[in-house]
Amino acid sequence: MIKADKIWIDGKLVAFDDAKVHVLTHALHYGVGVFEGIRAYKTADGRSAVFRLKEHVQRLYDSAHIVLMEIPVPPERLEQACVEVLKANKLDAGYLRPLAFFGAGAMGVGAGATNPVQVMVAAWPWGAYLSEEGLKKGIRAKVSSFTRMHVNVNMVRAKVSGQYVNSFLATREAAMAGYEEAILLDTEGYVAEGSGENIFIVKNGVLQTPPLSAPVLAGITRDSVLRIAKDLGVPVKEEKFTRDSMYLADELFMTGTAAEVTPVREVDNRRIGKGEPGPITKRIQDTYFKAVRGEEPRYREWLTPY
Ligand SMILES: *Cc1c(COP(=O)(O)O)cnc(C)c1O
Repeated sequence: MIKADKIWIDGKLVAFDDAKVHVLTHALHYGVGVFEGIRAYKTADGRSAVFRLKEHVQRLYDSAHIVLMEIPVPPERLEQACVEVLKANKLDAGYLRPLAFFGAGAMGVGAGATNPVQVMVAAWPWGAYLSEEGLKKGIRAKVSSFTRMHVNVNMVRAKVSGQYVNSFLATREAAMAGYEEAILLDTEGYVAEGSGENIFIVKNGVLQTPPLSAPVLAGITRDSVLRIAKDLGVPVKEEKFTRDSMYLADELFMTGTAAEVTPVREVDNRRIGKGEPGPITKRIQDTYFKAVRGEEPRYREWLTPY
């Protein structure tokens, strides 16, 4: 089980065991909570920094706006809370999980909108999400039998708790079938994304990822990778692609705050390229890890040192 010393909830740092909610918490029943996943890394100067904190906190408030939720503290306060939680837990690196949700009160689905909005930030040490070995050698993924929901079903710009039932079903199915991650197609059958990662293919030197008009989250890692690719002189295309174009790709990788830049070596039992992380994937992954550790001056603006 995840364990930490302190959790920030509704404006206060409390002991880990005291960060509790009522069983009639509206979000527990209907899933109307919005959350973020943020990482902090040790940096080359011997300190630590949160990666793209402002953008993550902004997306949390955007997610709240989409579900008509008013977060009772300003974004600046939440940014500060993220750093406070890292310090209170003496974490020089780790994963941050802010969550805002409708608390207890009314129980009607829509009536919950009048309930108090609770906000919390937790942090804990978290290694490679899809394994250390996966980061180095690539993972095996499977196209899911579950579909990424239509853009008028899931609010794709938002990280809303309830929407992750879809991701849960897809990852469980993939794991039970012996794969490390699921790849979801959209309602038209084009490749959308992983259960919690954006997806990229490389073909003939060109990097391609589905556009933001597809049912994909506007990943901050996706955005970082697009910028890095441009800076490395890798041509980029934001266009949808088919399932079989993954089979024929030279390289394939997934991106997310948790998954970082994880190469995929096999999809649906078809080897991708040479069955190992390709040269463009490796260059992008390497630059990404340098960026988060403050080893690339041009990406320093992405870091909030603490
Ligand atoms: C969080 C998430 C991602 C990755 O977003 P980042 O901002 O890179 O962490 C991608 N897809 C889904 C469905 C997600 O929930």
